[in-house]
Amino acid sequence: MYLKEQRKEKTIDKITYQLTRISHVGDACVGCGKCDMNCPTNLPLSFYFQSLNDMVRDDFGYIPGCDESATPPRSKKAVEDLAE
Ligand code: SF4
Repeated sequence: MYLKEQRKEKTIDKITYQLTRISHVGDACVGCGKCDMNCPTNLPLSFYFQSLNDMVRDDFGYIPGCDESATPPRSKKAVEDLAE
């Protein structure tokens, strides 16, 4: 009930939604391909997300799913480290 009430108060335009999704996937996609199998319009989503991962790897040296001790660049800790 509480979540439903919160959701009604928030509106988000489609572009902001997509940019937010991209930023969330950029340092989290491990390339499993499950999204390809579930996309209702058969988009090769894992291909797109892999392109994002390549940019994250090049810019931050981070590869999702490869080292559990590595800090994801979008995490709170990474942002705090940048501020120091
Ligand atoms: S390939 Fe798709 S389902 Fe798999 S981790 Fe990446 S975004 Fe998620």
